[in-house]
Amino acid sequence: MSCEIVDGIRENKHVLVEAGVGIGKSFAYIVPILYYSKIYHRPVVIATSTIALQEQLTHDIEKIMDMLNYEVEVLVAKGQNHFLCKKRFDDCFTKEFIEESVEHQIINDAICKFGYEKADWNVAVPNEIWNQINVKEYKAQFCKDKCSYCGCCYYYNLRQKMMSTHGIIVCNQDLLAVNMHKKANYRRQLMSEDIGIVVVDEAHNLESKVRSSVTSCISLKQLKDAMYGAGKAVDSFDSAFTKELEKADYLIDEIFKLLLKQMNEQDKEAEKNGQDIDRYYVRNIGINFEKLRKILNDIRLKASMSFGDFIGDRSRKSYDEEVEQLEDYVAFLESIIKWKNSEDIFWLERDRGNRGIKGVRLYKCPKAVDKITRRIMFGDSGLPVILTSATITSGKNEDYIKNYTYFINNTGFQTERSLVCEPKISPFNYDEHAKIYYTEHMPHPTREREKFIEEGIQEIIKLLQISNGKSLILFTAKTDMQAVYDKLQKENLPFKILMQQGNAKQAETLEMFRNDTNSVLLGTGSYWEGINIEGVSLSHVIIFKLPFPVRGPIIDYKYEQSKDGLMEVSVPEMVIKLKQGIGRLIRSENDKGIVSIIDSRVGERSKAPYKQIIWESLPIKSKTNKIEEIAAFYSQIVEQQKEGK
Ligand code: SF4
Repeated sequence: MSCEIVDGIRENKHVLVEAGVGIGKSFAYIVPILYYSKIYHRPVVIATSTIALQEQLTHDIEKIMDMLNYEVEVLVAKGQNHFLCKKRFDDCFTKEFIEESVEHQIINDAICKFGYEKADWNVAVPNEIWNQINVKEYKAQFCKDKCSYCGCCYYYNLRQKMMSTHGIIVCNQDLLAVNMHKKANYRRQLMSEDIGIVVVDEAHNLESKVRSSVTSCISLKQLKDAMYGAGKAVDSFDSAFTKELEKADYLIDEIFKLLLKQMNEQDKEAEKNGQDIDRYYVRNIGINFEKLRKILNDIRLKASMSFGDFIGDRSRKSYDEEVEQLEDYVAFLESIIKWKNSEDIFWLERDRGNRGIKGVRLYKCPKAVDKITRRIMFGDSGLPVILTSATITSGKNEDYIKNYTYFINNTGFQTERSLVCEPKISPFNYDEHAKIYYTEHMPHPTREREKFIEEGIQEIIKLLQISNGKSLILFTAKTDMQAVYDKLQKENLPFKILMQQGNAKQAETLEMFRNDTNSVLLGTGSYWEGINIEGVSLSHVIIFKLPFPVRGPIIDYKYEQSKDGLMEVSVPEMVIKLKQGIGRLIRSENDKGIVSIIDSRVGERSKAPYKQIIWESLPIKSKTNKIEEIAAFYSQIVEQQKEGK
């Protein structure tokens, strides 16, 4: 893999390579880029998708630099919201007249002892306070002109170093996507303009990260804040203008009521089918969007043409920003009015922190994210881009390049100027360390959902007894997870049953699962790829239903673009997710265990057209549909573990 990366760099080509778990993929690209850095003294960017990986990579880079006896600056560019803004901290506590408060004292102590990064602090700061004191909407010019802490501010200095470094910048893919946009549009970048190589690790997330970087959103609060903010700049604030504001306020409420109703209806349908919806369809926009657009445009015009006196410390400039914001929202409304013939995709999401109409978010992004990714990442920038991940391919075609098709189509990856490498197989001994059990007689998981859940729970109970707990059960829907959790709780099983919690308690739940060796953990969503538990606590992964993506506006668009949506879109998405889920089992060369797939669409009698693709794609080849065989295999590995083999 290293040699292929060297070839790519030398020939100025992009490199796409799937690297199985345990192959040492980070070492495979860090060594060549360190040599590149040593020879050319040009900065390199490594972008990945989680903070944990950013930290792991930094650790790996330092280790390899020691081995190579070569040192270069390494900058870990985490998102701005992880850092304290001293100016906002002062403003927040001064404004509230609570300089002497306990929180102020605790945070001040944390800054003195541990610096500006929240993750280093030994105290928990409530989100409502942190959101008022972290770096938000960072603007270098503002910091330079308006903030006396500028010289000693950690985040400001980090951003300055990112512009001038000759070393390695380890950032997240969101930041990379924003930077590549700026580069492609000849705008001032967030990083050095001399970057020589870009590495994208966990590259299977690239499409969604680029999509996020071109997605915009409106909410009830944003619209009202922008409207009233711009409204304050209007000189002739008479009763007619007040009525205009009231009318717009009423229309905004009505619009979000209509959108909320559509989301609630879709939730009811999804519940029946045992699905979780992330993105809801916009089914009807009614007549109020157009009325609102006209009024907001009128307010915007009046505000931008006013030259009145500005009150207090507010300058014309600060009103201009609000007027510009309103202008963006008017343009958003204009685009949704033409939604059926639009070049954008629209959808709704829930903001879980707010209830009712305040929790509705309306999103839009361009349909052609593949073309955008191609232009900004693989265009004429001349930069070689190295893309790697353990889960990019699906299928086992003899022509291995075909196995990358889904990734290539989604990202517009430029195969002409690139090296698409043969996937690198994991060195772990899957044949002896792991086996898959699959069910043969289960009801269909969607067509006979209730029966499937009932029989699925009985199957889970039998399987948990084989491994005496020690299991991670992965679900595709929270409703299924809750139903199984409730039932397992009542069964009086001899091991603790844990269920995935919200973000705040996630680390705590994982720690309990890790420490209580026999416990069972139920999870969905990020648990399919985001948890890493080595050792016996995780000896059994149970897949409760194949993880097909839920249809929604983005998947629907991909279906429209394909000849066979099931085989070209849903199956590759499902296979990649299944590989990620099963990948939770073997995290080191000593890990051993079993996987159970509770879904008879992979069984002998199934006629599903994708069955073979699934089996060929999975790294574990040994399989059985006999429960006694999987039990015997499990006993055998337990014996081996006892003997220390
Ligand atoms: S320099 Fe900028 S980010 Fe740093 S404390 Fe000042 S305003 Fe905040």
